[in-house]
Parts: sequence; structure tokens; C-alpha cells
Amino acid sequence: MARDDYEVVIGLEVHAELSTKTKIFCSCSTEFGGAPNTHCCPVCMGMPGALPVLNEKVVEYGVKAGLATNCEISRNSKSDRKNYFYPDTPKAYQISQYDKPLCENGFVEIEDDEGNPKTIRLLRIHIEDDAGKLNHDEFGGGSLVDLNRAGVPLIESVSMPDMRSAGEAERYLRKLKSIFEYIEVSDCKMQEGSLRADVNVSVRKKGATEFGTRTEMKNMSSFRSIVRAIEYESNRQIDLIEEGGVVEQESLRWDDVSGRTFPMRSKEDAEDYRYFPDPDLVAIRLSDEYIENIKKNLPELPESRKQRYMSELGLSEKDARLITASKYLSDLFEGTKNVCGNAKLSANWILSDISRILNEKEMEPDQIPFTAEQLGKMIVLIEKGTISSAIGKKVLTELFENPNDPEEIVKANGWIQISDESAIKEVVMQVLEANPQSIADFKAGKDKALGFLVGQAMKATKGKANPQMLNKMFIEELNK
Ligand code: ADP
Ligand code: ZN
Ligand code: MG
Repeated sequence: MARDDYEVVIGLEVHAELSTKTKIFCSCSTEFGGAPNTHCCPVCMGMPGALPVLNEKVVEYGVKAGLATNCEISRNSKSDRKNYFYPDTPKAYQISQYDKPLCENGFVEIEDDEGNPKTIRLLRIHIEDDAGKLNHDEFGGGSLVDLNRAGVPLIESVSMPDMRSAGEAERYLRKLKSIFEYIEVSDCKMQEGSLRADVNVSVRKKGATEFGTRTEMKNMSSFRSIVRAIEYESNRQIDLIEEGGVVEQESLRWDDVSGRTFPMRSKEDAEDYRYFPDPDLVAIRLSDEYIENIKKNLPELPESRKQRYMSELGLSEKDARLITASKYLSDLFEGTKNVCGNAKLSANWILSDISRILNEKEMEPDQIPFTAEQLGKMIVLIEKGTISSAIGKKVLTELFENPNDPEEIVKANGWIQISDESAIKEVVMQVLEANPQSIADFKAGKDKALGFLVGQAMKATKGKANPQMLNKMFIEELNK
């Protein structure tokens, strides 16, 4: 059989670090970075006798995430110890939730590979503490433990195995990321490890009713690697089955450099962790009123922003959808529009030039280095005629490299637009003199010749001539 005769099945466990100020069971700071072991106390270092106290904000953020993903919120949930030793986990257990998670049975909507709507079900969202970090090879080949991250609150969102391609998995993760950003429960910075996914992959013959055995690739934190890893791993499993082998249930490590997966350990089952209710923590009881209150105060979600952009700001459905796909883009759009007063132009810059640069640089919107105010001011400069849109593109490149006030950038580079009649006339006359054929073409009815002449004049002035004035003056001269 060929690879085409198989179906790929994917389920994601997504960990998001919550953006609460303090940790889940103590009052230490959750701030990213900091000198090693400076955001720690006896609780998050697992000292004997230290007692955890649940941070109420963590419950609130977890409920928010559940409501925004259509989950049922448990009125009665609890914390359980998941026992395992790892050098970055000094308690030798993680405090997670086993049989009574905070949120259950949700779903999010994505598009399948044909662009049709598809529902991905969420089995559960639970709250738990993050582990510390091991820094390898920094000290004579050994490893150093940094517990700043130990006890940072996480929500783990477990999907059903509903995805059927790498593309669907990517869109699901993007959707979840965008929802968490909108409701402001996590900054979802993948480059800082705030959002990480365990990617479960299996394959089965098309039409089969049972799932195949899955492997799990741990702790993935870039969309590109996730897509590559799913493609590699599903093909590996198919080839193995085709050769008469069997897929082992195991945890794998994806290596971005070699583009392969490597076995880490055979996959454990839930019973191996010896879960039991944490005796140091009380049950989490939530009233209807508490949940209702969080629901009422949920920030505006992407769908509603999209509708508003269409009805109030006159954007097309497509533009509104593309901008609201990311909260960072959407916030950038709103800020820019407020500064320059032109929604359509703000959307155009974001969706054309800025998106292109993000693609080229393989950057995510949250890595955009300039502010909405800077982008808005650049648009104002174009609208006032201080610079042409051709120069605007150069200013934008500069904003990505060295974000600064656009007016300063324009001044420092001598990019002010030439709008002086006599200066424009001089260029027009020079260009006409150098291109007699274009004059003849224009007179013979070839309108394209005008565009060519304007282009030549732009080139001669390094993009600084005012294009409307050029156009007007060329037409005047050509019709003389
Ligand atoms: P664990 O925490 O041990 O990894 P869970 O059952 O909580 O186990 O989570 C398993 C994840 O794997 C879920 O996201 C689920 O959708 C996914 N999954 C389960 N079975 C399969 C399968 N056969 N193929 C692909 N994904 C699967
Ligand atoms: Zn602490
Ligand atoms: Mg898992």
C-alpha cells in the first residue's frame, strides 16, 4: 500500500503558562528570566514542611480559558499529585488535576485542508504547576538547576484525537493561542516557552475504525517544527507498518537540525504516576455566580472584533478575518487606526507589507518590534505628502530594524518627498528628453508609456518625487 492509503490522526496536549503575577502555590514572581533561583521560596523549592496555598487568579484564568473554548466548568474539582522524579522537580511530584479537572468537554472551530469548517473537541483543561529548568553544559559538562519557573501556573488543554493533517494541527494550535491571547490568560510567547505542545501522532489505514498506536513528541514550541515533525513521524510510522513492523507507544524527541525523531523513553500510562488527591490542598468549589461573573467580564473575542471591523470600519470579511486571527495584529491595527484615522490604510499596511516581512523573517506578530503609534505616524506622513508610499516601504523596513519615530527616520535619511513644482518639472523634462520613444508610444495611444515615464522619474529621484505631481505634469507635457 502507498502512504496515500493511510490516515494520520493527531491529538495535542497544549501547555500555556498563565500570566498571573505570582506562582500557583506561593507568592514568588512568575516573571520570565531573572538570575537563576532568585524567584523561589521554600514552597516552590519543595522544602519539607512548606505548605502550598492555591492562587485564586489561577482558577479564574482557568475558568476564563474554559468558557472561551466552550467547556463545561466543574463546580467541584480538586488537585492531585502526579508522582515522578526529575531533577527540575524538587517535590518529586507535580500538582496537577486527575479525575476532576476544572473544565471539560469543550471545542474550538478551525478550517480543514479544504477550507471547510471543522470542530476540534477538547477533552479537558486542567491547572497545574510548571517544573524548573535544567541548563545543560554550562558548567564543565554538568547541568545546573534553575527553579525560577518551578511553580509557574499552567493550564493544560487536552484535545481529542480529532485532527487529520499537520495543517489542521497547526490551525488548531494557532486558534487556541489566539483565544488565550484575546482573553489575556497567557502571553503565549512560544520563543519563551509560554506555549508548548505535546504532539501525539498515529496512523491507520483509511476506513479503519480503531486508532493506531500513538507516539508522543514532547514540548514542541514552534509551528514550523510541529508541522515538520508530524510529517516526518507519520511517514516513519507508515513505512514501519509497510515493512511489517509495529509502532511502539513511546515518547519521542524531535530534532530540528536532522529533521528526525529519536526515542526518549517508552511511554508511561496514567497508573504509573500513582496519582492521589493532594492532602495539603482543599477542594475547588465554584458557585454559579462566580462563573457567571467571569463570563460577563470576558474580553471581546476575535469573532466579535471581526464583525465590528466589517460593520463599523468597512473592512472586507477576508481582511477582518486575517487581522483578528492574531490579537497582536488586531491590537496593532486598532492602535494604528486611532493614530492615523484611516482604517483601510492601516489594514493594507498590516496585511501586505508587514505580513510579507513577517513571513520573510519567519517572525510571529508578537515579535513586531515597533509600536502602533510609530506605524500610525508613518501613515500620516504619507497622507500629508511628506513621503511617498515608496519611501513608506523603506521607513517600514527601518521600523523593523531600528524602531524609532518615523519623522526622525525620514529626516535622518533625507527621504522627504520632492513636492516642489520646479524640481518636479526638471525631472519630468529630463526623463522626456531621454525617452523619445515613450512620447511617441503615448501619442499613439499606448497608456502604458505614462507609467513607464513616471517609473523612470521615480528611479531618478530614488523614490522621493511626489507621484501624483509627476503624473499630472507628464500628462500636461505629453498633451502639449
Ligand atoms: P497522556 O497524558 O498520557 O499523554 P492523555 O490520554 O491524557 O495521555 O492524552 C493523550 C493525547 O493524545 C490527547 O490529546 C489525545 O487526543 C491524543 N491521542 C490519544 N490517542 C491517540 C491516537 N491513537 N493517535 C493520536 N493521538 C492520540
Ligand atoms: Zn515560591
Ligand atoms: Mg501526553
